[in-house]
Amino acid sequence: MAFALHSYPVVYRAKFRQNEWKGEYLEKPHKTPAEEAALTQDEQEALADSRNRYEDMPLVSFTTQYGLSCFEGLKALPQQDGGLALFRPDQNAARFYRSMKGLYMPPFPEEEFLRACLETVQRNVRLGFRPWYKPEWEKDSFASADSVYIRPFTYAEGGIGVSLSQEPWVMVITSPVSSYFSGGRSEAVVTDRIRATPQGTGWIKAASNYVISALAKHEANAAGFMECIYLDATHRRYVEEGSSCNIFFYLRSGELVTPALGDTILPGITRASIIELARDQGVQVAERPIALEEVFAEARECFVSGTAAGATPIESLTYHERKVIFNQGKVGELTAALRDTLKGIQYGTLPDTKGWMIPVG
Ligand SMILES: *Cc1c(COP(=O)(O)O)cnc(C)c1O
Repeated sequence: MAFALHSYPVVYRAKFRQNEWKGEYLEKPHKTPAEEAALTQDEQEALADSRNRYEDMPLVSFTTQYGLSCFEGLKALPQQDGGLALFRPDQNAARFYRSMKGLYMPPFPEEEFLRACLETVQRNVRLGFRPWYKPEWEKDSFASADSVYIRPFTYAEGGIGVSLSQEPWVMVITSPVSSYFSGGRSEAVVTDRIRATPQGTGWIKAASNYVISALAKHEANAAGFMECIYLDATHRRYVEEGSSCNIFFYLRSGELVTPALGDTILPGITRASIIELARDQGVQVAERPIALEEVFAEARECFVSGTAAGATPIESLTYHERKVIFNQGKVGELTAALRDTLKGIQYGTLPDTKGWMIPVG
């Protein structure tokens, strides 16, 4: 049980039946956070494991057999004022709705999604399960900051024929997280694998998309890289995104480019936020196709974006025998500015002028 998922005890679960959603909160086995911290490693793993069991849900389902499921990922961030706040959860609610519709499931109402995310965090906080703001996080731009990861997802009813989910569950689990990319290295490699194809499900946060990503990321890590970057399926020429993050290039011309959305690119909420923040800072931003050739010739900075990654600088990109090093391997000025602005808003050290932060009451 070396890698048990250490989720917080309160979980939200809704089921679609007879044309309506019925939601409930489940309180899984737990002690107080202090008592849990005092347990032996094995006891902690056993407790974590018991929180991840649902005896009343089917094992053989369209989710476990065919990967028919979609999910979301968002964070509740500890604030300087002592509270917790969610970053743009309305956007996750809208994307989850679109993902479920894209998989021909009955979509989950956006207001209920919002309420479930906030209340799941809140109920765990009431039991003492939460991180607290630490001023020392400010020293490294929140690279070592803790937060609550919120993972809403769908789970299909029992079945074995290849079919659609008509009466899915929607669940919201939470777990403590710290920074995504550990260690200082941030070298990326272009993978020959194809993540998403035209007319496929690349635009949906669909569970099945992540099999290719896990394989490609494993191969990249085994070759000594932190991240892998995908090219488009048709021309094998245009950069699309990272394993589970969007990508940006700051060109010598002063233009910040990120691939245009289509059916193969996941519409990241961090991506949209960074585009807005960059434009606010007077940077010219283009959403357009960008060929690997152009990256090799013109890019001076590169970073990936996502809920887990924030805005993470990429120091180099390797494609077969070729390698480009961005900004002499140092974090670029624009990358750092955008990363710091985003983190500042998220942790409450900068004013939230856009109303992006929703406090956990
Ligand atoms: C989730 C995800 C992203 C980033 O989306 P955010 O909303 O910014 O977290 C980017 N690409 C893929 C493939 C993803 O799954």
